[in-house]
This record gives sequence, structure tokens and C-alpha cells, in this order.
Amino acid sequence: MEAKYYCPECGHEFVQGEYNYNYETANLDFECPECGWTGNDDDVYDEPEGELEIWNGGYNQRQLKKDGLCIVTWPESQYLTETPGHRNHSWLINDTRGLNRFGSSAYVVEIDWYNENV
Ligand SMILES: [Zn+2]
Repeated sequence: MEAKYYCPECGHEFVQGEYNYNYETANLDFECPECGWTGNDDDVYDEPEGELEIWNGGYNQRQLKKDGLCIVTWPESQYLTETPGHRNHSWLINDTRGLNRFGSSAYVVEIDWYNENV
């Protein structure tokens, strides 16, 4: 499978010719043709940032846990939303019941991804 790389600034998908192997650092060097961002393969994302999705499930904690999900509330959710790729692994709580219970800026998040990345 061929790896795909995405610009952390603008989400541009890098194609061949837009990155070069750097023999001194043993990294791939990237330069984004859209926003001018430069960096190496430690900084690029291996998946595109998705759309912000709204949680439309329930809030049964036992069921969430069984599904590998947890709820992250403010202020911890600040760190979540600053983490690249979070939109692919979390859902915003935006219904009346959820807002009353967890406040705004609360998310349902995949536990494994959260523990590894945030
Ligand atoms: Zn870019």
C-alpha cells in the first residue's frame, strides 16, 4: 500500500515530486504547493482531516465503553481539538440532552486513539 501524506496546515494531499528523501536526516522533506508549509514526515499527517461530525448516539457510559468510546469534556477537549486528525476519531456533542449533561465543547472520542495521540 502506498503511503499518503497530507499537509498539516491546509490538508493538501502531497503527490510524488512534492517531497524528497533527505539522505542526511533520513526523513522525507515536504513543501506544500498550496500554502507554502515545509516540514518532514514527522509532521505530515497520514490521513486527511475529515468533516466535524455530530454525535447522534446515546450516552449510556457502559455502552460507550463497550464500543471503545469515551466522553471528553472541556477543558480537556481543548487538547483534543488541537490534535491533528481528531475529526476522524471524535464526534461533537451538540444535542440538547448531551449539552445539558456534558456542556459545550464536549466530544465522544475513540479511547485508543485518544490515549495514543492526545
Ligand atoms: Zn498546505
